[in-house]
Amino acid sequence: MSVQRIQELRILLERYSREYYLNDAPSVPDSEYDALMNELRQLEQEHPECYDPNSVTERVNGFVSDSFQKITHKRPMLSLGNAYSYEDLKAFEKRVVDEVGTVNFEVELKIDGLAMSITYRDGRFVQAVTRGDGIVGEDVSNNVRTIRSLPLHIDLQEEIEIRGEVYMPKKSFERLNEERRMAQEEEFANPRNAAAGSIRQLDSAVAAKRGLDGFWYHVCDAKKWASTHSESLAMLDRLGFVTNPLRRVFTNMDDVWNYILTITKQRPDLPYEIDGMVIKVDSLDAQEQLGNTIRVPKWAIAYKFPAEEVVSEIEDIFVTVGRTGKITPNAKLKPVRIAGTSVSYAQLHNEDMIRNKDIRIGDAVVVRKAGDIIPEVVRSLKERRNGQQVPYEFPKFCPVCNAPLYRFDQEADHYCMNTECGARIVESIVHFASRDAMNIDGLGSKKVEQLHDAGLLNKVEDIYDLKYETEKMLALDKMGQVSVDKLIQAIEKSKENPLEKLLYGLGIRHVGEKAAKLLAQHFVSMDSLRNASKEMLVNIKDIGETTAEALIAFFAEEENQQMLLSLKNHGLRMDTDPVEVKESLFTNKKVVLTGSLQYFTRSEATELLESLGAKVSGSVSKQTDLVIYGEAAGSKLAKAQQLNIATMSEQELYERLQEIEQENKEVL
Ligand code: NAD
Repeated sequence: MSVQRIQELRILLERYSREYYLNDAPSVPDSEYDALMNELRQLEQEHPECYDPNSVTERVNGFVSDSFQKITHKRPMLSLGNAYSYEDLKAFEKRVVDEVGTVNFEVELKIDGLAMSITYRDGRFVQAVTRGDGIVGEDVSNNVRTIRSLPLHIDLQEEIEIRGEVYMPKKSFERLNEERRMAQEEEFANPRNAAAGSIRQLDSAVAAKRGLDGFWYHVCDAKKWASTHSESLAMLDRLGFVTNPLRRVFTNMDDVWNYILTITKQRPDLPYEIDGMVIKVDSLDAQEQLGNTIRVPKWAIAYKFPAEEVVSEIEDIFVTVGRTGKITPNAKLKPVRIAGTSVSYAQLHNEDMIRNKDIRIGDAVVVRKAGDIIPEVVRSLKERRNGQQVPYEFPKFCPVCNAPLYRFDQEADHYCMNTECGARIVESIVHFASRDAMNIDGLGSKKVEQLHDAGLLNKVEDIYDLKYETEKMLALDKMGQVSVDKLIQAIEKSKENPLEKLLYGLGIRHVGEKAAKLLAQHFVSMDSLRNASKEMLVNIKDIGETTAEALIAFFAEEENQQMLLSLKNHGLRMDTDPVEVKESLFTNKKVVLTGSLQYFTRSEATELLESLGAKVSGSVSKQTDLVIYGEAAGSKLAKAQQLNIATMSEQELYERLQEIEQENKEVL
């Protein structure tokens, strides 16, 4: 059985590798590939009689396409060993220290692109080669030459081989996929595959248009020029290569781990994708002493972030009814861990999505969860079907009130149009009472359902009449005097909430938390908001036509007018305090931006600073108060230092802006 599984896994992983490296179109997420690879490694260890030098576990992963000239690397291009936890990193630290004594560790971002080796001779760029299978790579010099940030001439006569990662920035990736969607071409699964597909274009004019970039992180034979890895990267900086500025050197793994946690938080804001961090022994002598295995260096390790895409199985599909009557299909999944949390349900969006992606009950599916986003089913793995999978029939009637479901022209969603539908009523009350809206502690979905079933909650305003119904509440299951008193107290307290909380709680279409805040800040009272014309509404930055129309429609409804009147009569606050955004260190400052920025585009940074009261100008003079510098900042930064003008790195700017945002949140 195990022997058969080993053969099966070798064939399967070889196929996935081909799809990934040759076609740039993986059919399974990396987590699935890694899990199968680990399973194979384990089985091979248990069955040494099955050893095969051609097994996927024995070599650097990758393929070499016949479309390019093949180049044998002077020194093999290796992969990296993996770590998934703090414990794995501590074990790596121990292995290193046991062998070479205490060392410094340099930590870098693990850029999600493709590895590239570039060579310079007599100060000129001569060749770029992909990693290929680690021994032989593809000559992609013409395409790499189109990367604008890459120097074609350097101030060094000796031959030098440099390695790094060619990647596609998130913005270029979005633009490329948008273009492909318009042209009805298959979209790339992620920026890594898009970068690999672009670098392996036969026509370099196509590659040139794709907006690729590169970070350079390794100098071969670095000991010729430096004694530590970090010194060799500083040399690359001086020669005009772009190295990643977020690299740091630490003396121990605990500090490394803290830094990993910091970068994990910043990850969504980075303009490029990273899939982990690479930890390298900084001393080149120690690196040499530690050496390499056939596949990976022993002086470095890659910490991989928890996977955001994994494979699971759909056990069932069912629909739920939202507060607007919107019907959402959901998948009940075999529980899986994604991005550190256990997931049993995922969204399927709507009927078209299920049909177009041919997602069936019983299918193995790719599930994605990133950050706070609700997990969603991305696609089904049709090749894993065994004939037991059943296509899903979208219901024609509301599962709660049995009213026929309705689908508007041009819309993808179905709706239950019955305003008396129990699910709609319950959901709208749950939303009203939720933490980010009126924050009524103790009024969660179970309690609302119970009170609705008991006939005590049939509309939002009934919440404020519950204090007259304590007898009936006490008669209900799990409702004692203490919990009833607490609930009534929380309800009374909610009356003091400012307008934005109430507005959000009303569940007006297209009015989310952010729009509610903007509207409350702008109009200050419910009355002036109700009287606002469409023109006045769309004049507010970030309020669009759809939101404006939804607001006008909401206030025009007789039923809603009644509800607002009733809430007012119950004593709810209908206004907010005008917000004064606190003075910040940028207020009234003359600021100059210089160098290339990592977190923001120039115009984003300018807009942000201006919104905080700064004046952003292009040149440094005695009147300048602050110079903010990105990577490779040159004469403007030097001039600022000469004139004794305050300076700030882009990283610091990012941190200050986060603090200001946090303070302003607390004000609201
Ligand atoms: P790897 O990508 O995990 O790590 C090695 C690579 O990291 C290096 O080659 C280099 O390109 C890169 N890197 C990025 N930043 C770096 C830095 N600062 N310093 C050094 N290196 C840096 O290993 P791998 O062997 O290239 O590929 C395996 C990966 O490919 C796995 O994550 C695997 O899941 C994925 N894969 C997926 C499929 C699939 O079907 N989904 C198939 C094959 C491989």
